[in-house]
Amino acid sequence: MYLVAEIDQEICSSTSCRLCTQFCPESNTIQYDEGLGAERGSKYGSAYVAVDRCKGCAICVWVCDTMAKHHAIKLEMIDQIPAIATTVGIQYTERGAVATFVKSEVASEG
Ligand code: SF4
Ligand code: SF4
Repeated sequence: MYLVAEIDQEICSSTSCRLCTQFCPESNTIQYDEGLGAERGSKYGSAYVAVDRCKGCAICVWVCDTMAKHHAIKLEMIDQIPAIATTVGIQYTERGAVATFVKSEVASEG
């Protein structure tokens, strides 16, 4: 098992700052979904992490803690995260790469 970034969407969806999405060195890893948190009344959405692309470098943790001061990202062991997003495909276009993700539950290990 290894560490990946986990975003507290309740905190993130109350800010709309999007700062971490500009600093992750792995392309198409921190994504922003404007619909996340809508059921709690959030108008802004939330960032989330495609865990299959995350290298656990913790740059996003520093950005969220120190630059944005929102403390919404922690590194967690991948098997401790209840719901994950993984990449199912990337399309390369003239304007850049667009990744498609699936969000799913992590199967608990016996
Ligand atoms: S820096 Fe923190 S609060 Fe801002 S978008 Fe990223 S996770 Fe959300
Ligand atoms: S830990 Fe590093 S690779 Fe993973 S989402 Fe954060 S900045 Fe990107």
